[in-house]
Amino acid sequence: MTDAHRLDCEAQANDCRFIVQSEDETEAISLAQSHMREAHGKDFTDDELREEHLQTV
Ligand SMILES: [Zn+2]
Repeated sequence: MTDAHRLDCEAQANDCRFIVQSEDETEAISLAQSHMREAHGKDFTDDELREEHLQTV
């Protein structure tokens, strides 16, 4: 079974229902990064997202 990488924005920002889920970690990070920047004006590095925000499901 393949793991999926998931970021649930609701856990980070109230009122945001954005969820990224992908089997491709690079893609999940890049989608999450754009969302954080465009929707929340926050910049995260790849490492920050990978270590602190992405869950493996
Ligand atoms: Zn969000």
